[in-house]
Amino acid sequence: MGRLVMKFGGTSVANVDRIRNVARHVEREVKAGNQVAVVVSAMAGTTNQLVEWCKQAAPMHDAREYDAVVATGEQITAGLLAIVLQEIGIPARSWSGWQIPIETDGVHSAARMTNINGAEILKRMEQGQVAVIAGFQGIGPDKRITTLGRGGSDTSAVAVAAALKASCDIYTDVDGVYTADPRIVTGARKLDKISYEEMLEQASLGAKVLHLRSVELAMVYNVPLQVRSSFEAPDSPNQNKPDGTGPGTIVCQEEKSMEQHVVSGIAYSRDEAKISLRKVKDKPGVSAGVFGPLAEADISVDMIVQNVSADGAVADITFTLPRKDLRKAIDVLEKLKDQIGFQDITHSADVAKVSVVGIGMRSHAGVASKMFKSLADKGINIQAITTSEIKVSVLIDEAYTELAVRALHTAYGLDKA
Ligand code: ADP
Ligand code: ASP
Ligand code: MG
Repeated sequence: MGRLVMKFGGTSVANVDRIRNVARHVEREVKAGNQVAVVVSAMAGTTNQLVEWCKQAAPMHDAREYDAVVATGEQITAGLLAIVLQEIGIPARSWSGWQIPIETDGVHSAARMTNINGAEILKRMEQGQVAVIAGFQGIGPDKRITTLGRGGSDTSAVAVAAALKASCDIYTDVDGVYTADPRIVTGARKLDKISYEEMLEQASLGAKVLHLRSVELAMVYNVPLQVRSSFEAPDSPNQNKPDGTGPGTIVCQEEKSMEQHVVSGIAYSRDEAKISLRKVKDKPGVSAGVFGPLAEADISVDMIVQNVSADGAVADITFTLPRKDLRKAIDVLEKLKDQIGFQDITHSADVAKVSVVGIGMRSHAGVASKMFKSLADKGINIQAITTSEIKVSVLIDEAYTELAVRALHTAYGLDKA
């Protein structure tokens, strides 16, 4: 018994039959005596369709109107789930972000939540009503609908759980967090537990099973977080294990035993592009001249590599950025060509970032060299490298992404026995 937020992603609510299946998971938790709030995503494919319609209407559209359009997907599923729950005798009511309200800042299409007033929802939950909340959306200071960025319903769910002092179960189309994307690596293993820190790295490096900010929030507010499957039968005996380990993966504070594995997972991201500025003058202020204007244009740069020529007079600067920002970044830099002083600019969108993550790396040497050797053995060229305390990332040709992920998974001994 307790207070619980259950979040269901797009594939879990892809049609009315699946919404009925979701309702049975909710019913199970209500019957077990829990006070339940549910956060839902849009039906699979719906948000993509809505985004596409905005693009067709005008390639450079107003972000407020984009939000007004794309937030509708979640409203449909919230209403449908409330109807289906009522139909099976569970009192339920749907909520859009503005009705709660879930307040956000004014950055339309990439808003951050600033406050959630959970009072009304709590009152109703205590009376036995299930709150079905549209994920991904809130209301900005201008009183208009905002959205939180793609994949943001996970973050809605964790924020609601923090506001209600509840635990949070993220139901998705896999039964937990794996050592690598199980759709690419068939030998990937499900983890019983993963630390917030490792999950943060995994999410930031492309493992989309959890939205990055949902993990940040869970870590800051100490929200008990679990990733589990909506496709496991709602009445399966596996749903509530007596030893409390849960059927999925628990994301929690680091435990001593977690350091025993050096690498806990391999992540990849295809959302990468690379720009090289050739023959940049090698003098103080040049990097600031390149990266300052990119930051002002809201483009976040990730890996940076600089090679200085033999005579030290010029340098090549290569960096990576989100693929969607490639055109914008080139426009910004070309306008500044004379001011920065470079000879030419080249770019590629056929690159991917592959990373190995693990808290055990802090105390074990040789992780990076094993990565480089494994990739070399497969003939995969490394174009750039970055490291942090618990991860090593490399940039490679996108065509080799799956090969690299599988090779590394094997090299670090992560394959299923
Ligand atoms: P939802 O629609 O439920 O939010 P997502 O598609 O956003 O689901 O996230 C689930 C997907 O994340 C899985 O289908 C899987 O392919 C992918 N994924 C990537 N890396 C991992 C990983 N390490 N463990 C589990 N799933 C992963
Ligand atoms: N429907 C939104 C998206 O597809 C939010 C989410 O599903 O998390 O990005
Ligand atoms: Mg998701």
